Amino acid sequence: MKRYSLQIAGQAQPPANGQWIASLNPYTAEAWAEIPDGSAADVDAAVQAAHTAFSSGAWPQLSATERGALLRKLAGLIERDADKLARTEVMDNGKLFAEMRGQLQYIPQWFHYYGGLADKVQGATLPLDKKGYFAFTRHEPLGVVAAITPWNSPLFLLAWKIAPALAAGCTVVVKPSEFTSASTLEFAELFNEAGFPPGVFNVVTGYGAQVGSALVAHPLVAKVSFTGSDVTGRAINQAAAAQLKHSSMELGGKSPNIVFADADLEQAMYGAISGIFAATGQTCIAGSRLLVQRSIHDAFVERLVAFAATARMGDPMSLETQVGPVTTLPQYEKVLSYIEIAKAEGAQVVLGGTKATRAECGKGWFIEPTILTQVHNGMRIAQEEVFGPVLSVIPFDDEADALRIANDVRFGLAAAVWTSDIGCALRMSERLQAGTVWVNTYRAVSFMAPFGGYKDSGLGRENGQSAIYEYLQTKSVWINS
Ligand code: NAD
Repeated sequence: MKRYSLQIAGQAQPPANGQWIASLNPYTAEAWAEIPDGSAADVDAAVQAAHTAFSSGAWPQLSATERGALLRKLAGLIERDADKLARTEVMDNGKLFAEMRGQLQYIPQWFHYYGGLADKVQGATLPLDKKGYFAFTRHEPLGVVAAITPWNSPLFLLAWKIAPALAAGCTVVVKPSEFTSASTLEFAELFNEAGFPPGVFNVVTGYGAQVGSALVAHPLVAKVSFTGSDVTGRAINQAAAAQLKHSSMELGGKSPNIVFADADLEQAMYGAISGIFAATGQTCIAGSRLLVQRSIHDAFVERLVAFAATARMGDPMSLETQVGPVTTLPQYEKVLSYIEIAKAEGAQVVLGGTKATRAECGKGWFIEPTILTQVHNGMRIAQEEVFGPVLSVIPFDDEADALRIANDVRFGLAAAVWTSDIGCALRMSERLQAGTVWVNTYRAVSFMAPFGGYKDSGLGRENGQSAIYEYLQTKSVWINS
């Protein structure tokens, strides 16, 4: 069985306590690798290495242009190893190889984009109100960044953090999810090859309660950049605030996917299906509440069910497979329990609703694509993040009703509107409380488009030019002339 090492100061290292965690393949429910069960001692070694790299040595000596060149070199190595890294994530995470390969081919763009942006960060000269003074601003890197990532898209979500952080001149210690750490540890090996100075990028694996909390609490960490559940995010944000650390939070969602009667209903149907069943529903942007205008509700649901019923499940490596397993056993149990909660609340299962017993699913953690009707927005199934292949369909009467239902939830990560009326699309996109609104599409993301949450879905923004400022602080320099 493959045994991975911690990556600290450019070296592969065993964990200080000599303990390992089995990493399970969700398709077979069997261990396929071991990752280090890190501890506070490993966190300290990694943060010290990152702090040394930030404050002395080669990294701060590099110009922003040279940092950008290193990021672009890294992009080339990811492009070269895209298939290998994608296979590792399929083994560890159960996501479809077709999707992972697409993600891994797209990830280099983050390093090209922020590599190009590194030397375009500029200060300003200030038109002061005081005679005899001259002042200008500088944008300086914050220091050591703790990047804590979830299990659902380990490398994709990591790239959103580290590409701008490194472009800004910070150094990084990553704590990936204990369920899916392998690809991040393999990725770390590319930093030496690209020529990054040791200590600029470090990875400590292990459990959140040990490694994650030690990292957040470490006094030399200047900023915590977290993606994960809102419960964990709240705890981390409080711990960071106690030491006045910077933090950004990308948290959960309960996104409404809103279909008006005048929409292109075939496109809307595909959008609804990919919005919830892609990645087996395990995406923060999952369109888990499908709001359908009442006049087309029954016909649209019928069409949706007929299409979703044809989904092929099974081996995530097969290009034929359309829905893969749930990534972890606790998540599998949680999703099944939410289906029971929904039934007890009065929802009607019109598709799926059970674990999958198809032969092609073997011993894996598969759940049948599930569609629920008779859902109203006050039910737990409509309010809480399930993070699985479970779609709740809710009817609405008109624009005002759709808006009321869409916004009546504590999350605000994403929303979509399907309509042929541009006025309706613009009014809805203005009034929907979400960090991303899609019109006649779903799931589109880009390194160029800011991404983040309203309400309980988070703090701060990733992607786009402004994301680099999440890792910089501004200094005003005054000169008495
Ligand atoms: P999680 O909150 O359980 O864990 C996320 C990470 O935090 C893991 O690495 C975990 O080990 C670590 N952690 C746990 N407890 C910690 C602690 N006390 N201190 C420090 N670190 C700790 O989330 P998950 O189950 O891995 O991921 C699923 C969640 O992530 C969902 O809620 C999903 O919506 C969210 N998510 C959000 C986005 C986004 O961009 N908004 C993207 C993907 C996933």
